[in-house]
Amino acid sequence: MPDSRFETSEGHPGTPDGFQRLWTPHRMVYLAQETGHVGCPFCTAPEGSDEDGLIVFRGTVSYVLLNLYPYNSGHVLVCPYRHVATYDQATAEEVAEIGELTQIAMRVLRDVSGCVGFNLGMNQGEVAGAGIEEHLHQHIVPRWRNDANFFPIIAQTKAIPRLLGEVREQLAQAWPTTTTLE
Ligand SMILES: [Zn+2]
Repeated sequence: MPDSRFETSEGHPGTPDGFQRLWTPHRMVYLAQETGHVGCPFCTAPEGSDEDGLIVFRGTVSYVLLNLYPYNSGHVLVCPYRHVATYDQATAEEVAEIGELTQIAMRVLRDVSGCVGFNLGMNQGEVAGAGIEEHLHQHIVPRWRNDANFFPIIAQTKAIPRLLGEVREQLAQAWPTTTTLE
């Protein structure tokens, strides 16, 4: 009998990595079923509430959300609202805001989690590792000393998603009220 607590990465925002994860079902799943939207999760997420879409901050042309398949706790993504695949298709305004939100996310994550490093990046195209290659997204992965040591151990059954709502709440509350960089 299949264990309903285990889900594959089909149909969720983020970058599917093939691992199954142990979690309590998230409302995002139901939202997707109700709307019948089986298309792009990065286009779908902003249509619902911040809680359902795990959205941390909504900018003018781009937004910040948690990756449902985090490499580390606090792994966020910055996406343009527009459905464009590659970085060179982004407008100057999108490039500027994605950069700005990336900087703010780093500061918020550092403040909230005490991380001491980051991996930033965009995988462009399936061949380059993009899980959802049709919609541009920038990864921001907080890093701590020695986190690489436990990552392979917990990767198979991460009990993360119950915590995703809490992480979203924490980051959203710590997000500065002004987005103007100093
Ligand atoms: Zn899209």
